[in-house]
Amino acid sequence: MGRHILRCVYCGKEYEDDHFRLNCDENHEPSLLRTVYKNGTFTIKEDLPGMFKFENYLPVVRTLDVSGAPVTYKSEGLAHNLELKNLYIIFNGYWPERNAFMETASFKELEAPSVLGRVPENHPETIVVASAGNTGRAFADICSKNRIPLILVIPEANIDEIWSCEPFNDCVVLIAASGNSDYTDAIKLAGKIIELEGYFPEGGAKNVARRDGMATTVLDAAHTMGRIPDHYFQAIGSGTGGIAAWESYLRLKEDGVYTNGVMKLHLSQNYPFIPIVDAWNEGKETFPELEEEKSKDAIHHMRAKVLSNRKPPYSIRGGIWDILTASSGTMYSVKNDEVAEAQRLFENYEEIDIHPAAGVALGALIQAVERGAVGKDDYVAFNVTGGGERRVMQEKDIYYLEPLFRFNDREINSESIVSKLKDILLAV
Ligand SMILES: [Zn+2]
Repeated sequence: MGRHILRCVYCGKEYEDDHFRLNCDENHEPSLLRTVYKNGTFTIKEDLPGMFKFENYLPVVRTLDVSGAPVTYKSEGLAHNLELKNLYIIFNGYWPERNAFMETASFKELEAPSVLGRVPENHPETIVVASAGNTGRAFADICSKNRIPLILVIPEANIDEIWSCEPFNDCVVLIAASGNSDYTDAIKLAGKIIELEGYFPEGGAKNVARRDGMATTVLDAAHTMGRIPDHYFQAIGSGTGGIAAWESYLRLKEDGVYTNGVMKLHLSQNYPFIPIVDAWNEGKETFPELEEEKSKDAIHHMRAKVLSNRKPPYSIRGGIWDILTASSGTMYSVKNDEVAEAQRLFENYEEIDIHPAAGVALGALIQAVERGAVGKDDYVAFNVTGGGERRVMQEKDIYYLEPLFRFNDREINSESIVSKLKDILLAV
């Protein structure tokens, strides 16, 4: 562990990993940092728990008690239906017959262990995470099981997303952004908590651990295929998963693990909220400022609500614009009825339920096949970012986490919020 450095995508400056760094110190345009693993070999350590089997491509200093990892298998039913000879499904979720044990049924369960494993054990500060749902559920579950203190901030409308198959430990504190608050207000509230002493931000797309955790999907796919996929399909909200997939491909290539071809990215969004599709298709290198009311209305009408980030890491160096350019990638717009049909098709042929977001990715794959953008013999990796939730709900007891405090949008935007937070958090 610790055999990696961080390198700025823009200027190339290198840093030792201090477990928390999110940015380059040089005065230049915004840029992501990327992890460079000095050992440069790809080994799967089956004796480590869950996704930590990819530990030598994770920036972690310790492993945690987790059971989830991506599971890649070669499709027969869906592949036959789409007339593809080499369709591989990267399944993230709960499907015991396939050894898939993500009990939160979402690939966000790849982010939390990696982010938390990057921080040394017994670090005195508490991590603060703002989420609209899946990410929060994964952090709450992993922190609770591993007794890691967490402050989680969620819009009150999404509180039902925070559940686990085990009762929550007191180390997890949930704060709701209530009233007319949305995800953006939750992010603002989390930002206020971080101003207090004793708390640090999770960091979002800028946290290399978050991206390298999600990047294990491509590692798993390449290992199962014995090569780099020709095509990679995934639905995106912020696009962080797409960036992670591309970085994973680069790592395998640069380290000489697999050297065949370029992995083409096929990323998708759910119409009517498709700001990344629009920006990319219009050739915009800079992401436009979105009109709030119009966006909220579009989000209200989409089936895969988790894909609703209004401020994606698009223009930042190493972000979505750069990876789509480098991979000669394609963006797809998938309508609600196509999503529903794709979900039905998947369950019919593969015999497990998938999330609407995974239905978006499958809708894009169907479009690509119809357009002839994917050849019958090509190696296709389709990332099912969430599945088996219905199975979890049927087979397990489900526990929900109640908010300890609520702040409405007026309070969140008031001058006195920081001192209020200080008082209540001191008492926890
Ligand atoms: Zn730099």
